Amino acid sequence: MAPLCQIQSLGKTYDKVHALSNIHLSIEAGEFISLIGPSGAGKTTLLRLLSGIEQPDQGTITFQTPEYRPVLVFQDFWLFPTMNVRHNIEFGLKAHRLPKSLRNERVNQVLEDFGLTAHAHKYPGQLSAGQQQRVALARALAIQPRLLLLDEPFAHLDRNLTSRTAAYLREIHNRYNLTTVAVTHNQEEAFQMSDRIGVIMDGNLVQCDTPEKLVSHPANYQTAAFLGPLEVLPPSLSPYLAHPSQSNKLHHYYRPHRVNLSSLDNNSASPKEAYSISRRTVPQLPEILEIHTRIRSTQPRDIGYTIRMGQESKGDPEDQEGKIDQDEILAITTQTNLSAGQWVRAELEVLTFEGPGK
Ligand code: ADP
Repeated sequence: MAPLCQIQSLGKTYDKVHALSNIHLSIEAGEFISLIGPSGAGKTTLLRLLSGIEQPDQGTITFQTPEYRPVLVFQDFWLFPTMNVRHNIEFGLKAHRLPKSLRNERVNQVLEDFGLTAHAHKYPGQLSAGQQQRVALARALAIQPRLLLLDEPFAHLDRNLTSRTAAYLREIHNRYNLTTVAVTHNQEEAFQMSDRIGVIMDGNLVQCDTPEKLVSHPANYQTAAFLGPLEVLPPSLSPYLAHPSQSNKLHHYYRPHRVNLSSLDNNSASPKEAYSISRRTVPQLPEILEIHTRIRSTQPRDIGYTIRMGQESKGDPEDQEGKIDQDEILAITTQTNLSAGQWVRAELEVLTFEGPGK
């Protein structure tokens, strides 16, 4: 079956600014896709092209059937301030020339679905941002679109509401059998609600993958760095990897926040025997280095504890085998039961990219 929407070689230029270049994407019916990327990368432009508000300069957007009816919910909701909730919702149906009786039926249904029945006679100014968003969604869904386009759905919500709203959007998506594309700056919520996440940078769709794949196999250094803090892997660990760095062609990184730390039983092995480094591969995950080593120091920070680990490179070089020397690994954790001198197992997910990252 053809995808709901097929985007091919899509490009858009504004006054010599290449807002989008050569975008290819198939959107399957029922998918929830979030578009993330730095400001000015072209995310909203893609949404506007999908909605039909803007026309592309190059390429095509093909829908499975002409009656796909995309509907865009703007970030500031665009409710009519002088119309009450009921009339705001009915407005779109009037534009679609639905007869009065069908209009009433649809409006009553979405008012109920969105928990707005009691607010039907209120004006937008009398509602909270969350309620206004529900009205905007209800208005959009009253016309029974196939494709729902959301522009920054968390922009005007309190931070404590964003996760609940992400769950709510996903539920609406499922309940109405929608295909949804959302532009958002909220990465956590994008990961929570989406089947796939598209990363747009400098007008290019760099990657569009499941949240798991994006974390484990980001397309390049820039994408990985956009998704969260990255540290260069200490060079002394490179020889333990399947593809060690050679003449600077491959570059290895890890995420200090995702280092999995667990304490080793001090009695199970003497410290000397406990030093070890080994490599593991697990399907769907990056390459993992498992390191048994000692915590040298911990330091509280706003974000948790930063932890330095390793062994000073002194003494007999043969003793140093399997130890992290000179370079120290820095992990960041919120575990408070770890202290200097303790033996730990640290699992690092190693991301490898060709070419220099920075
Ligand atoms: P994002 O949504 O990722 O923040 P946009 O799609 O809004 O990015 O913008 C992409 C680029 O296109 C930016 O450089 C922006 O300044 C430019 N742009 C967007 N809309 C217009 C417009 N109507 N006129 C001129 N330039 C525009």
